[in-house]
Amino acid sequence: MEATISRVRQSTIPPVIAARWALWTFVIVNVVIVEILFLTAGTGKNGTLTVAKFFGLHAAVLMLFQLLLVARLPWLDRRIGMDRLTVWHRWVGFTLLWTLLTHAVLVVLGYARLDDASMTKTFFALAGVPASLLGMLAAAIVVVIAAVSARQVRRRLRYETWHALHLLLYVALGLAFVHQLQETTTFSSSAFATVYWWALWLFAFGALVTGRIVMPVWRNAYHRFEVAAVVPESDSVVSVHVTGRHLDKLPARAGQFCIWRFPGHNHWWLANPFSLSAAPDGRTLRLTAKAVGSASAGLRHVPVGSRAFVEGPYGAFTSLHRTRPGALLIAGGVGITPVRALLEEEAADDVVVLYRVRSEEDAVLGDEVRTLVGDLGGRLHLLAGRTGEGAPPFDPENLRALVPDVAERDVYVCGPPAMTTAVLTSLRALKVPPRQVHAERFGLA
Ligand SMILES: Cc1cc2nc3c(=O)[nH]c(=O)nc-3n(C[C@H](O)[C@H](O)[C@H](O)COP(=O)(O)OP(=O)(O)OC[C@H]3O[C@@H](n4cnc5c(N)ncnc54)[C@H](O)[C@@H]3O)c2cc1C
Repeated sequence: MEATISRVRQSTIPPVIAARWALWTFVIVNVVIVEILFLTAGTGKNGTLTVAKFFGLHAAVLMLFQLLLVARLPWLDRRIGMDRLTVWHRWVGFTLLWTLLTHAVLVVLGYARLDDASMTKTFFALAGVPASLLGMLAAAIVVVIAAVSARQVRRRLRYETWHALHLLLYVALGLAFVHQLQETTTFSSSAFATVYWWALWLFAFGALVTGRIVMPVWRNAYHRFEVAAVVPESDSVVSVHVTGRHLDKLPARAGQFCIWRFPGHNHWWLANPFSLSAAPDGRTLRLTAKAVGSASAGLRHVPVGSRAFVEGPYGAFTSLHRTRPGALLIAGGVGITPVRALLEEEAADDVVVLYRVRSEEDAVLGDEVRTLVGDLGGRLHLLAGRTGEGAPPFDPENLRALVPDVAERDVYVCGPPAMTTAVLTSLRALKVPPRQVHAERFGLA
């Protein structure tokens, strides 16, 4: 860990900042190119259609950016984290929705003015033109996806249903791509414009296919993961140990998570994210799961020797982001899993662990955590109690009382969403610099 910190300090740019700059540079460079192409060749048949074209081009760039955000490229994922990338994906998605709708309305309005016809008549006339119809279908799919992604609707849907609907986005992208090829004059206005546009789409699709299909399939073929042991930790918590070939070559770090499938045991479409609950040692990976729904509850019945399909490792909840010698690790309930793994990487004795549990007996992996903290000469506070009982354990005063030098430490937080939010609010009140705060939320969507 000390070596990690000095490496991080030597490179003056923190990894997360480097990744943000890379993403912003990508966006700005491409927006500038698109603006230039628009100014040189973007004029439509009237003013309204010119503005419509402007929005259409930007919708296309947003779509490409969306692909990059969900491509699960390891370089970005380790620096920014899948949870944060998913939040950006959500915001870009809603921006895309409004940009597309503005484009569509302006196209109908522009042609209605051109033909001196009503908007309804123009809409149906455009629907009869194959290129426009493809664009309309793509926009309709984006509207459906945005509707099911609204928080109120999303909460009511099963994760798998929502995810399956979300996959329609790829259909929308395909339709939008063909629509652009057939409709737009901007990207066929010069040899440069055509080559640029094709290269951008190939890059974005290439990144997606590599990150989402090629890498996982290749890794599973290479490592051939299989279940080595299933160890009940309590009535509701189980650990699954997974082995495979050449696991020393798997670039996994303590604090990361994988998306796990157990195809012979569960339906193939059931894939669940679980953190590594022990630091990868080159021979096995371990997950520890609390029974929440059918997939997590069923893990204790996964047969030893069965194949596992593992996507990842993913996540930025790692020592790559360490900035200080001292660490404060805060976990709630089963959120202890990545914290337990991180403890194995700690070398300094300056570690404090705050572990919120309902009761001491409920502490998942409690003995392991006690031993690891003891070996490090660190401090462990088991904060037993239920939400609403007694003083909130993570309010600023309590945190400062438990860890007076909290602002001098890197703080890693993983727990239920409400607890994580409470801790992050207190850390802000205690003026802990944001770059020292690292959180993993057990929810991606
Ligand atoms: C990064 C990350 C790390 C996690 N690590 C752990 C861990 O170490 N130990 C642990 O016990 N739990 C962990 N979880 C939570 C765990 O993934 C869910 O509890 C589990 O997937 C529930 O699945 P289920 O089918 O049993 O329950 P369900 O009742 O079917 O699902 C409950 C909820 O879990 C979430 N969920 C289900 N599948 C997925 C998915 N593929 N992707 C994102 N969310 C999903 C959804 O919000 C869903 O509504 C982690 C979650 C994330 C996002």
